[in-house]
Amino acid sequence: MDIDYSFLNAGRNMDSLFRILRSKIAILNSPEISTPTLKTSLGICLNSGFPIAVCWGKEFTLFYNDQYALILGGKHPKAFGSPTKIVFAEIWDILEPQLKLVISSGTTIKLPDAPFLLDRNGYLEECYFDYTLSPIYNAEGKIEGIFNLVIETTNKVIGQRRSELLNKLIKIGNTAQTLEKYFNNCKIALNEEQQEIPFYLIYLKGKHKIYTLVASGGIDQTIDHHKWPVEDLLKSGNTVFLDSISDYLAEPIITFYPEPCCEAAIIPLKNKNAPISGYMIVGLSPRKKNDTDYKQFIENVGGVIGNCLSSAFSFDEFLSLEREKENLLRIISHELKTPITSIKGYAQLIMRVSEKNGDDSSKLLTKMTSQINKLNHIITDMLDGTNFNSGRIHLTITEFSFDNLVKKIASEIYISDSKHNIQIELGCRNLYSGDRARIGQVISNLLSNAIKYSPDGGNIFIRTSGNNEKISFSISDQGIGIRKAEQQKIFERFYRSTEIITQYPYPGMGLGLFISNEIIKLMGGKLWCESQEGQGAIFYFTLPLDYKSTY
Ligand code: ADP
Repeated sequence: MDIDYSFLNAGRNMDSLFRILRSKIAILNSPEISTPTLKTSLGICLNSGFPIAVCWGKEFTLFYNDQYALILGGKHPKAFGSPTKIVFAEIWDILEPQLKLVISSGTTIKLPDAPFLLDRNGYLEECYFDYTLSPIYNAEGKIEGIFNLVIETTNKVIGQRRSELLNKLIKIGNTAQTLEKYFNNCKIALNEEQQEIPFYLIYLKGKHKIYTLVASGGIDQTIDHHKWPVEDLLKSGNTVFLDSISDYLAEPIITFYPEPCCEAAIIPLKNKNAPISGYMIVGLSPRKKNDTDYKQFIENVGGVIGNCLSSAFSFDEFLSLEREKENLLRIISHELKTPITSIKGYAQLIMRVSEKNGDDSSKLLTKMTSQINKLNHIITDMLDGTNFNSGRIHLTITEFSFDNLVKKIASEIYISDSKHNIQIELGCRNLYSGDRARIGQVISNLLSNAIKYSPDGGNIFIRTSGNNEKISFSISDQGIGIRKAEQQKIFERFYRSTEIITQYPYPGMGLGLFISNEIIKLMGGKLWCESQEGQGAIFYFTLPLDYKSTY
């Protein structure tokens, strides 16, 4: 059958598509597809100045104009005349029900700024679209296809998000009275925007041009900043963009997105024409191409922070204040520890005497000892917190059975907890070489948290396993859970979730997970959590078997 292509005679936009269309002649020849309504629809679509597609027939075969081709990126030209299911395989679970609804009910779907993860340029890209899907009726009133008008709003949505962050950072700079407060607030703002800046490290120049890390987020490994090409930035004063960062990292950085960050930038921090006062290493989103807009935004972040570091703040003063604060905490905790240990010893002695004499003060003494234990625990955590922060921890390595340690700790805690059903599945046959007491501290902290943060009771499952490379531990509870946005932050020193501080009376200082994470990292392992708010939490850690102490 000869087809009259005059309906495609669209003039200015049409050249490239017309050629493709002819190559898809087999599709247009199929009687099911090539109906008068399709011809009319394609005529409108191809002549329009807006991005329009037509999804036709059972397969929702896709036809579109040149403007729509721009949205498709690398999917074009293959997409033309192909089933929508194949063209948009990565978002078919969202599209299919919408297309079917239009066909079955004649409904028009209209969505503003709808988010999609499109694989149109070789990676899953964060995109937003205003779009409509409306039915195309034939002369008999039957729906033959779908008219799809799309306006990409990615730049608008992401642009707004970026402006909000920049405005926040400017506001923080205008209101902070000290450098410490400034960085604390910067951390909060940056940690909330991990979509744009998945991780960051801010270094300030102190005495003798030594750069010290003063703030970081989204990163749970120790970074050796000397490895990064900072010299290039210090020489030129210009931002350095890095296409690949794997050489500078011990392991891939995965934060907001499931894909690891591959790109980063090192931005100078300086106040207008003043010399560089520091620099910032910033991870770039794996879901957004490092285009001019993104580069400009990253430079603006550095610009805003750099401008705020005005001469009113003395870096040396700030850094030495930080050190003094740490020292003070360490001295106080250390000085408190000795009398507490003596008080505990005396209490136990009096308890033994009173038990022997059969008087009833032993009950009160048991309560007193339990409070002393709590106080002792708090002081130990404070001391550990400062020591880990300044790298003053030493490990004592011995060989021991990991499963036996887990069993011992769980049974000790089990005795004092009647509300929860603690179940243990031990599957780690290996002997492990590591710091037994420190690993015990981690297990005990995770188990105490599981009990503390599931106030209504429920099941607590502990599982261990091992293979030739590593041992693994997990603990799940059915408690209050942790919001996604806080699942990284809970490993920071003194961090407690906002709900816990404002709504629940759970005691704590936000040190346990920080210390646990540092211990696991010191032994070359990894600690992480998975949770849904209100539906409990699972904490995991793994430890490599070939760990050699580098400490
Ligand atoms: P603390 O319990 O003293 O606050 P941690 O460092 O042990 O300190 O925990 C930090 C924060 O992590 C807690 O304040 C709480 O918000 C959250 N958290 C820890 N474990 C759990 C859990 N199993 N369920 C819910 N939230 C938890």
